[in-house]
Amino acid sequence: MPPSSCRKRLLGNQIVQPSSARPCTLSAGRIPSAATSLKYAISIESSDPHRHPARPPGLSRIERPYRLAMFDLDGTLAPSKEAISPATARMLCALLSAIDVCIISGGGFEQFDTQVLGRLGESCDLRRLHVMPTCGTRYLRWEGGVWTEIYFERLTSDEKNRAIEVLEGGAAKLGFRRDATWGPTIEDRGSQVTYSALGQHAPADVKSAWDPDNSRKESLRQYAAERLPELEVKSGGSTSIDVTRRGIDKAYGARKLMAALGLTMGEILFFGDRLDPQGNDYPIRAMGIDCIEVHGAEDTIAKVAKVFGGLVS
Ligand SMILES: [Mg+2]
Repeated sequence: MPPSSCRKRLLGNQIVQPSSARPCTLSAGRIPSAATSLKYAISIESSDPHRHPARPPGLSRIERPYRLAMFDLDGTLAPSKEAISPATARMLCALLSAIDVCIISGGGFEQFDTQVLGRLGESCDLRRLHVMPTCGTRYLRWEGGVWTEIYFERLTSDEKNRAIEVLEGGAAKLGFRRDATWGPTIEDRGSQVTYSALGQHAPADVKSAWDPDNSRKESLRQYAAERLPELEVKSGGSTSIDVTRRGIDKAYGARKLMAALGLTMGEILFFGDRLDPQGNDYPIRAMGIDCIEVHGAEDTIAKVAKVFGGLVS
């Protein structure tokens, strides 16, 4: 269990002090205000073919009035389930002083709190930060001095129980069950049930060695998908399978955010480490949002600095 107890207390509808010393609370059914940041004209070097496939040849730079920078978390802002570095915190806070920033991940709010929110420092202005755990099926903002839940689309108890039963049954049948794991293998994230073969807190090197060719995850994903036709079953991290309602991916979260803030696709710039067709950032690229592929947090900082120039340096 991470140090934050936000989720537990959120379910009880109380205000608490999470690890970030920033309390969270519920605010059901409220419509968020639109993004207030001014449009920011930015020059981008267009060397990444993922971003502007239709760009005329020979055009080396483009101008875009981005209003929001959107980031994947694991592999983009920090190593999987690890905290962001002080340099990444400085970069995020510099961006937040000028434009809106969204962080979207398959992880739960507790992960955001432990990895990012608790590391940003008291002087960081969080009013432009949009937190989207579990691929945007949950959305929180910092309002009135507390983390405020804009919405939370939960699975029903029946859906969750069925998903847990199938995932545990499949893991046993396929020989994935172990006597000892690094924490629980099943995590109820409210809008998502996640199975982690080695436990939620397994070391990164052990996880990456468990299924290097993705075949074990794929066998469990297929097993569960056949038995949960009403739900969506996807590969998550290096050892995990996620079960959600159908049609839930990062593009779903991006559309929810665009609708909430009145943004167009052309006003968003996304940074992610898995923009390849098998990656969990791919739906963002496929829907047409401008994307920059990164390889770890240091690369993200370098590319943000390149794109946003003096804003973050
Ligand atoms: Mg990632």
